[in-house]
Amino acid sequence: MAKISVENGRLKVPDEVDIPFIEGDGTGPDISRAAKMVFEAAIKKAYGGKRKVSWIETLAGESAYKKVGKWLPEETIEIIKNHIIAIKGPLTTPVGGGVRSINVTLRQIFDLYACVRPVKYFKGVPSPLRYPEKVDCVVFRENTEDVYAGIEWKYDSEEAKKVRKFLKDEFGIEIREDAGIGLKPISEFGTRRLMRKAIKYAIDKKRKSITIMHKGNIMKFTEGAFREWCYKTAKEEFGDITIQESELAEGKTPDGKIVIKDRIADNMFQQILTRPDEYDIIICPNLNGDYISDALAGLVGGLGVAPGANIGDFYAIFEATHGTAPKYAGLDKVNPTSLILSGAMMFDYIGWEEVSKIIYEGIERTFKKKIFTYDLARQDPEAKEVKCSEFAKAVIDNM
Ligand code: NAP
Repeated sequence: MAKISVENGRLKVPDEVDIPFIEGDGTGPDISRAAKMVFEAAIKKAYGGKRKVSWIETLAGESAYKKVGKWLPEETIEIIKNHIIAIKGPLTTPVGGGVRSINVTLRQIFDLYACVRPVKYFKGVPSPLRYPEKVDCVVFRENTEDVYAGIEWKYDSEEAKKVRKFLKDEFGIEIREDAGIGLKPISEFGTRRLMRKAIKYAIDKKRKSITIMHKGNIMKFTEGAFREWCYKTAKEEFGDITIQESELAEGKTPDGKIVIKDRIADNMFQQILTRPDEYDIIICPNLNGDYISDALAGLVGGLGVAPGANIGDFYAIFEATHGTAPKYAGLDKVNPTSLILSGAMMFDYIGWEEVSKIIYEGIERTFKKKIFTYDLARQDPEAKEVKCSEFAKAVIDNM
């Protein structure tokens, strides 16, 4: 087996490749086992043995802490550095106690600035919408800035006191003494590189529009600036292929152009419920992206079917959108689709599109037959409820 490398600005992927796999905590091992079965069957079906993956067991999270006393061992960072990509199950984030979220740390170490979350309806899946087939969106969420950057101080810390004093002395701004303080940095650099990635994706996948979701009417120099920089990037770097919504004649898009529009965040939420087909790619700062991707997932079956990827210039970590769902750990119960589809994104990323196509078709046919894990089965009285591993077997049978 061999490693993925970067050569002449492109990924070079050997036919027999090693990929690090972090199984994760809670329900992570259940869904990871199921997902691996599906990946291996799809690779075999696509290439009949000509291409193979060998999974490198890689530790992080609570299970790493129990085994080696560290939430994120240095060895794990080295492994991902050496292999460029990885796939992971969900990780426990300890609440309080000074341990930072491993997910956020991984995103920062590898500068995985784009969180890409496609949300697409599969026929047969129960949905609260009357026409769920209209949902086919990809969220590009900024991953390194915003209130998520982790710059915050406890209300009674020395740092918070200093910040309060500075704000009062320098700007005459009074902040209550019992207030915790967080910062919300949003930069032109961070915004433009994300927008560039979203536009390239739109060109590659022949998507029709990109909507900038922001709260710029209130937070003018962070979210408002995000909006401006997105428009600027489209105009200055992709002016030949993009057009602003305001420039459309009678609302018609000229052939081959990608429309760039923007919506205020609160409005965006009602838009995806009432007119989801008008939204294709949605680009947003970190916190908006967190909210809107779960809301979109809810329209097409919930967190159990929502895949994601954290992507930098080359490094990429593919992961389910949901968390560890600890109450179901070890029960072979939860839906592995989110992780399976994250794997399909990974195979697309390394150029093994045949594998992701087979995975999609397997899931599509399984859902059409209403073979569901508990989360979807409880929403549909006609469903055939199966366990996590049985669902994976059904997907393989339906490939
Ligand atoms: P969660 O683990 O996502 O679970 C919330 C609910 O979502 C579950 O109770 C379950 O709903 C549903 N759900 C989650 N995974 C599912 C699956 N595979 N199939 C079907 N339904 C699924 O969120 P949480 O309880 O807030 O967080 C638990 C832990 O996970 C925390 O430590 C949190 O920090 C961590 N977390 C990690 C990540 C990550 O690693 N990327 C992301 C989010 C949270 P029902 O109860 O309705 O059945």
